[in-house]
Amino acid sequence: MPELPEVETIRLQLAPRVTGERIRAVRVTRTRAIRAHASAGEFRALLLHRTILDIRRRGKALLLLLNGDCSLLVRLGMSGQLVLADADAPVTPHTHVMLELSDGRELRYIDPRTFGQMAVVAGHDPAAMKELAHYGPEPLGDAFTTEHLVGVMAGKGTSVEAVLMDQTKVVGIGKIYADESCFLAGIDPRRAARSLSYDEVIRLRAAVRDVLTRAIACRGTSGHDSAYRDAHGELGNFQCHLNVYQRAGQPCRVCGTLVEYRPFQGRRIHFCPHCQR
Ligand SMILES: [Zn+2]
Repeated sequence: MPELPEVETIRLQLAPRVTGERIRAVRVTRTRAIRAHASAGEFRALLLHRTILDIRRRGKALLLLLNGDCSLLVRLGMSGQLVLADADAPVTPHTHVMLELSDGRELRYIDPRTFGQMAVVAGHDPAAMKELAHYGPEPLGDAFTTEHLVGVMAGKGTSVEAVLMDQTKVVGIGKIYADESCFLAGIDPRRAARSLSYDEVIRLRAAVRDVLTRAIACRGTSGHDSAYRDAHGELGNFQCHLNVYQRAGQPCRVCGTLVEYRPFQGRRIHFCPHCQR
């Protein structure tokens, strides 16, 4: 599933290439991908002839800011891709929405599992959008302070992993970067969130920021299913740098103990039983 680094990679790649482009045609081949709208016709009418002013990211969501004070909200779900393609490039299976731009290229939304979706929403400010207003701070932003993380870890009867993945506490982290952050911090992700010491919270915050920053620099992680592709349709590169995620049964890069992959609270988590306490 695309998480913050994958979505940020797509934003960084698309922003200079589509800003200023006008949407001159809209094709929808699967209405489930635009299910917030009554019909493909409604979706098309809201987008047609709009100009893309900028692209923002909030958590795992992309926002294409459009003139007319509206935005195209793109959620990639489990397997979504947003790819900029030449008009004559072959259309890959599971391409559900195509936006033809004024320069002739197409912005294509591809999603085999169709858990993601596109929706036109009012305004440009994510904090004012009901779809995103409940989101917690950006982990790479100034609001993600040690004090914030202490606050959301304290008093919760849940695990460290669950807090990291709770988008109301901090956005953009899913199972890849929750597992990796806990490894870097030396913390067992199954521990009760409120059991963390202040020093452990400091380590965890630093680990989150470090792993997300490095993953963006590597254009994100394409896991074993290769579902994630960047805006050029290419695989990411951070899978080569993962310490525990999808490394079950392989030796820990630090201590050599085999990485474990265990069911936990309805998910499965990866960790080193020696390095993480
Ligand atoms: Zn280890």
